[in-house]
Amino acid sequence: MKNLLIVLSGPSGVGKGTIVERLLKSGGYSLSVSCTTRAPREGERDGVSYFFTDRQTFEGGIKNGGFLEYSEHFGNLYGTPKAFVEEKLKTGDVILEIEVDGALQVKRAHPEALLIMIAPPSESELISRLEKRGSESAEKIRERVKRMEYELSKKNEYDYTVINDNLDIAVDEIKNIIAKTKRS
Ligand code: 5GP
Repeated sequence: MKNLLIVLSGPSGVGKGTIVERLLKSGGYSLSVSCTTRAPREGERDGVSYFFTDRQTFEGGIKNGGFLEYSEHFGNLYGTPKAFVEEKLKTGDVILEIEVDGALQVKRAHPEALLIMIAPPSESELISRLEKRGSESAEKIRERVKRMEYELSKKNEYDYTVINDNLDIAVDEIKNIIAKTKRS
């Protein structure tokens, strides 16, 4: 059975990170580590959370065809290192947690990749989740809401959409989709 490239996307605050953690804990998957030009946040480690790099190095990587996909998001570049993912794919299924523009590039280059959109139970629910984080200004929240609408508008281009209403159910649903795709 061929190993799968699994792409998970979804708007900020939808719970992607927790879902990915659960999938990794259950074993059988590895996670791609992306490159980014954004500065590390507190607690993030180079080579674990991201490979942190400067713009010039990143742009060199683009020129050399080193990325499976890349995109600019809120002023920073993010990309999936091609060689890193190819290496991981030799040993099992690989999860990419990336935003929609990059995800659709992956689908164009690798139609066999499995694209799953994680959506909130309702948009208003997600807006209130974002507001409850309390760490962002009204302006930032507005930006994120606009981005959320954009990301969700692309869900028809994904293979599946999973609603994260209940974490256990969403994780099970994703595992079932992966199993079904591997059987087909
Ligand atoms: P953050 O800066 O909050 O870690 O991530 C911002 C956004 O960039 C998230 O939607 C995340 O999924 C996305 N992202 C992370 N890595 C990549 C990548 O390699 N490629 C693309 N296209 N998006 C990424």
